[in-house]
Amino acid sequence: METAEIKIRTCPICGQEYTDRPAISRMDCETPICPDCGTRQALTSIGIDAEEQEKILDAIHRSMDRCTQDKP
Ligand SMILES: [Zn+2]
Repeated sequence: METAEIKIRTCPICGQEYTDRPAISRMDCETPICPDCGTRQALTSIGIDAEEQEKILDAIHRSMDRCTQDKP
């Protein structure tokens, strides 16, 4: 039986601790970074500015919250 081990990592970009599967930095293609920074780098690469990135991340977090909240 596999042990469900939760590994806490610290993102080298924003310093946030996270337990989700890491994204890989586009800077060097090997550094694990938090999913939020992974999304930011992806958005930057398609020309989305910082302000718009935060709005998109906010929307992503809200939609994820909906799935993790207990149903009444
Ligand atoms: Zn980060």
